[in-house]
Amino acid sequence: MEHNKEQMMVAALENGSVIDHIPTDKLWTIAQLLNLDKCPEEVVIANNLESKVMTRKGLIKISGKFFSEEEISKLAVVCPNIRLTVIRNYEVTEKRQINLSDTIINIVKCANPVCITNNEPMKTYFNVKDLTTLKCRYCGKEQSLDSIKLK
Ligand SMILES: [Zn+2]
Repeated sequence: MEHNKEQMMVAALENGSVIDHIPTDKLWTIAQLLNLDKCPEEVVIANNLESKVMTRKGLIKISGKFFSEEEISKLAVVCPNIRLTVIRNYEVTEKRQINLSDTIINIVKCANPVCITNNEPMKTYFNVKDLTTLKCRYCGKEQSLDSIKLK
């Protein structure tokens, strides 16, 4: 039943993107990250949907929106393991699990206030350790993915 309902929601989109499998506590962070409060297109935000994979999940559907790789990387940092579906002319043209890459470039702020990246106009680089910890390439400061601040 759930599957059919989901298919209907996706099918209703002519062109755009669907972000699925969002943890319920991350839904509004994602909405904020994507500036959905200012989005002029049709947006559907659903939360606490039943899910077979997770107990409850959130879903965001944005008409006319196609994410850049940079935006996708940001989404992955805030919310690893979400699923992205791209629709063109009512057809699913892409469906993929978004995973965190090994290197995160210029998305997250370093938690070390004296790190050079916080004091010079430059990009930040982090290596991802064990999917939960980021390590700054410049100062070596480690921070948990749960407590990151976006640049
Ligand atoms: Zn640093």
